[in-house]
Amino acid sequence: MNKINLLGIQYDDKSSYLKGARLAPPIIKEKIWSTSSNTFSENLIDINTYLNDVGNKEISNYFDIESIVANQFNNNNKIIILGGDHSITYPILKAFYKYYGSFDVLHIDAHPDLYDSLDGDKYSHACPFTRIMEDNLIDNLIQVGIRTWTEHQREQANKFKIPINDMKSIDFSEILNIENDVYISLDMDVFDPAFAPGVSHHEPGGFTSREVITLIQNINTRIIGADIVEYNPERDVQGITAALAAKMVKEISSKMIENG
Ligand code: MN
Ligand code: MN
Repeated sequence: MNKINLLGIQYDDKSSYLKGARLAPPIIKEKIWSTSSNTFSENLIDINTYLNDVGNKEISNYFDIESIVANQFNNNNKIIILGGDHSITYPILKAFYKYYGSFDVLHIDAHPDLYDSLDGDKYSHACPFTRIMEDNLIDNLIQVGIRTWTEHQREQANKFKIPINDMKSIDFSEILNIENDVYISLDMDVFDPAFAPGVSHHEPGGFTSREVITLIQNINTRIIGADIVEYNPERDVQGITAALAAKMVKEISSKMIENG
């Protein structure tokens, strides 16, 4: 196992409701290395040994994101990307597809992000998984935490044969049947707003911090990459959500290291 390149993508032009997610990466990084905690994951891997901060990129052109991510596949390093709004996952996965070819995506989110377009924009943060499925970038999409969607988005899920684990019928044992390499896309609004107030869209009825941590800790296959998106510092309270995003970087990194 080599290093994990930690890349910030400062971009929120595709946010439909509130801006602010572009400010997230430096704030999450500050929390990772804050002396208020330490850099060990819960299973006592010191992620400081592995994390390689490769900086934060201010994005003006959405279509630059793919090549910025592609430049991080060096020395067999893994990549964790801090967003940014969720629109960035489409260009990110274009880069991952060209490098890895075949993998599943575990998408953890209050929303399925499966609109064909929103407000006339096919690249809105409400649309990335439609573009990803249309382009056949991934083998299987597993969505977890969904609780705010529409009839249109359910039709989209059926069209692309996406198994949706929505909150009202959640069964953790079924979710963890992933057998392929996996990329994790974590939208911070999957947590209940009580645990993560610093997001643009407050969707009550979400996961506790513990539930998502347990979900990550139970992944048994190789984790090839991850993004943590939609943290909005302008909505946070006392840095609570930043601390949770930093915690998720630690736990995802730890699983990346452990699973090889
Ligand atoms: Mn999302
Ligand atoms: Mn969301």
